[in-house]
Amino acid sequence: MARVALVTGGTRGIGAAICRMLKDKGYTVAANYAGNDAAAKKFREETGIAVYKFDVGDFAAVQTAVAQIEKDLGPIEIVVNNAGITRDGTMKRMNRESWDAVVATNLGSCFNVCKAVWDGMNTRGFGRIVNIGSINGQAGQYGQVNYAAAKSGIHGFTKALAQEGAAKGITVNAIAPGYTDTDMVSAVPAPVLEKIVAKIPVGRLGKAEEIARGVVFLVADDAGFITGSTLSINGGQHMY
Ligand code: NDP
Repeated sequence: MARVALVTGGTRGIGAAICRMLKDKGYTVAANYAGNDAAAKKFREETGIAVYKFDVGDFAAVQTAVAQIEKDLGPIEIVVNNAGITRDGTMKRMNRESWDAVVATNLGSCFNVCKAVWDGMNTRGFGRIVNIGSINGQAGQYGQVNYAAAKSGIHGFTKALAQEGAAKGITVNAIAPGYTDTDMVSAVPAPVLEKIVAKIPVGRLGKAEEIARGVVFLVADDAGFITGSTLSINGGQHMY
């Protein structure tokens, strides 16, 4: 039977590319999203992939949704913690709400989702978890103390959980994308984006499919010896 993969934030951008590629490789995919019903409907119609609306930052909502997905599709054996948001601002301007929202959505979500699938993965002796970090979690970024801290936290979370899963057939890895052409990046003002692209040795933004390639590689059945690692996919912008 096809393994079931849950991709958070799977209806747009990088997550949508991950869902499509996993489906193409024969996995049964569940795509989560937060509130953009129109995008989710379009994605569902185009791909036939099941969509589930819940807030990954809400612990109780995640436990309920995961139980529903497993009822609908079967045990979740692959998790891609991809949902993320930015609420940029310098320390001078950033308020506590922006800090909390970014930490809850980008990092708290990893705990919430992993907690919901962890016992099942342990019992079955198989699991693949991929957490989407960021170049800005590795290198920091002006105006992003919240986002850089959350993404940096993902890398620590990954290495710690990898140690707990290793003897149970569960791998836990991270991908640190560089600047990738999605709605998130189109929110960056054009002059700022030009300066960013000028610093990317490959000379362009990444494509969502180029991040998805890394996910497909890490979740494969024969990737069992790769755990606790971070795969940087950033056009050479930051060599970590
Ligand atoms: P997008 O903004 O294009 O898409 C974000 C997705 O996450 C949407 O499906 C959105 O749902 C969902 N989402 C947001 N908040 C929540 C929530 N609370 N609960 C559930 N789902 C939620 O983002 P990208 O594709 O650009 O980014 C994907 C991941 O990659 C993020 O973690 C991001 O931080 C990371 N990343 C992106 C980079 C880039 O350059 N694009 C670079 C490095 C890392 P909805 O449609 O309902 O809003």
